[in-house]
Amino acid sequence: MPSYDSPLPTPSPRFLVSDLLETLETYLSAEQQRAVYSAYLFAAEAHDGQWRQSGEAYIFHPLAVAKILADMRLDYQTLMAALLHDVIEDTPTAKEQLAQQFGPEVAHLVDGVSKLDKVKFSSRAESEASNFQKMFLAMAQDIRVILVKLADRLHNMRTLSAMKPASARRKAHETLEIYAPIAQRLGIACLHWELEHWCFLTLYPWRYQIINRAIRRTQMQRTERIQQIISLIQQRLQAHDLPALVTLESLRVFAVYRKAHLQMDTLHTSLNQIELKIVVKSRQLGDCYRAIGILHASYKPIPGHLKDYIAIPKTNGYQALHTLLACSEKLNILARIQNSEMEQVAQMGIAAHWCYNMPIHPSGHTSYYRAEKWINGLLELQKNIGDSQEFIENVKMDLFPDEVYVVTPKGEIITLPRGATPVDLAYAIHTDIGNTCIGAKVDNRRVHLLKPLLNGQSVQILTDPKARPSPDWLNFVVTGKARTQIKLYFKNTPKLDQGNLAQVSLHPTSLAIKSTDGLAVSFAACCHPIPDDAIAGIFSPGLGMVVHLANCPHLLASPQCWPMEWSSTTQTEFPVEIWVKVEEKLGVLALVSAAIAEQQCNIEQILIEMQPDNTRLLKLVISVRNRLHLADVLREIKTLAAVKSVSRSNTNLLPTLATPYKPQRARPRRLPHPL
Ligand code: MN
Repeated sequence: MPSYDSPLPTPSPRFLVSDLLETLETYLSAEQQRAVYSAYLFAAEAHDGQWRQSGEAYIFHPLAVAKILADMRLDYQTLMAALLHDVIEDTPTAKEQLAQQFGPEVAHLVDGVSKLDKVKFSSRAESEASNFQKMFLAMAQDIRVILVKLADRLHNMRTLSAMKPASARRKAHETLEIYAPIAQRLGIACLHWELEHWCFLTLYPWRYQIINRAIRRTQMQRTERIQQIISLIQQRLQAHDLPALVTLESLRVFAVYRKAHLQMDTLHTSLNQIELKIVVKSRQLGDCYRAIGILHASYKPIPGHLKDYIAIPKTNGYQALHTLLACSEKLNILARIQNSEMEQVAQMGIAAHWCYNMPIHPSGHTSYYRAEKWINGLLELQKNIGDSQEFIENVKMDLFPDEVYVVTPKGEIITLPRGATPVDLAYAIHTDIGNTCIGAKVDNRRVHLLKPLLNGQSVQILTDPKARPSPDWLNFVVTGKARTQIKLYFKNTPKLDQGNLAQVSLHPTSLAIKSTDGLAVSFAACCHPIPDDAIAGIFSPGLGMVVHLANCPHLLASPQCWPMEWSSTTQTEFPVEIWVKVEEKLGVLALVSAAIAEQQCNIEQILIEMQPDNTRLLKLVISVRNRLHLADVLREIKTLAAVKSVSRSNTNLLPTLATPYKPQRARPRRLPHPL
């Protein structure tokens, strides 16, 4: 595996069969080496005359895949399958032939990574999902299938530059969505990081260059300083009879990007944090805790960052103690303390079972056992789903069971239950942040407050000191803390009655509509408020905030209402009802419509009522941008000779209080996005 202490290898290191054999000699028996070599000969013959898009002979691809797995010291059958992995799909070889020649296990592994016949599918999505499902089923029988698949994908990612840009991007997307997370879920850090690396480089080449350059520059500047820190830590541990190997973990471009999400100031904050891996030689768990004590005596720990993943391993089996140390004003050290066994699992995950002959503990502490449980759980689920596309969606969801980890702009990782929204996160950070949150940026893009957060996203909560929680949030928050705090807020906030409404409307504490991002807002059909009207909202369960004119009788009848303001950036058109009294004359409706169209205005509804005095009343719902626009329309209509009067409906006839209020009549409508 490439070392991350140096820049990554050139995109396509070409491995020869001699390179592979050299690696095999280090850990396989002579007989096993011979078996691998015979698989190589078979594959070379089968692929003879085939070429990759890069222009090299096809066999170099399976060779490279086998070399990736040999470097992970996987067993000889996996390596044979790696060499043969494309012969069923791309050559006339049948599974039975492989089974006869190399045994049923190798044949099963090869078949598991082979795609189904393309002819069967109507769309690419369907074929991709079906192939994935097939591979997943094969993997449940033998988990080594996924190791071959991941190594295959890794080599394809390394050689992506030979592909057309559109296909390269599609592959990178797929890898980032499913294969990199699977590698992570199985704990195989080396594969996971390199897959992410190539995805990021393919999808965002410029961002990659900028961050990479910044990383190299900072690293060069502080080489000496870090050497001093490393030897100091090593000496202190040694002095306490705790020999340990301390190494600097190289900053990974994608990890920095995710954390800094491209804001230069936070990019520097994340560059100011280095990661040290401290592997204590002792196998006693207690010694990891002792080591952390010694570190805390040497550097000041930053409160809130001590994580005990030894007692509570991560879902993929990862174990370590984490602590953040303040070294100087511009340098923090994230120290990860492990013993050598934990370090092996952290690097190799399920592959550690072969790589280091690690036993499988049914106690559930190895990644292998955890992975098996995960796969079996998904298979259970699969029984109830016939559709392969639904299955792949489920796998994506389940790649991070139970919890999501999100990153705050300060680099803090916060764990939330699955389904948690930005509002949950805001309350998890601090009640005041929750109470004043108005929106969120996920990976630097604005999202609605009710959008569930996903694993690994960096989330920034936007607040406005004038904002306040919305009762509607109770419909979607999932954490107890958010729920309790929102309820508490409304319990402690005095209800507004009509008497102080006017007063509050004038006060700046009013709730600006622009800050209701994420809250369902609809506009009442009884009074049709439009921008620049004085407005207030009534909260209605299921509909969210329903906005009425401030003098709408329904509002006056409601026990609790919220003063609101229009956002100055409102761009959409809003419906408003106008009444036009006209003489009964041929073509009058056409004249009125033409006048309305003249002002770039659409008619949404027309109702014509005969009046006792032989005139007609046209009740029109038109859409306008604001009051000014409406005034222009009314003026245009007034110029027509056949028009006796024109007005906005509700200025001369408001619904009476006797009419029961029906919120269903309101037109649900999302507010225009403030950004
Ligand atoms: Mn392949």
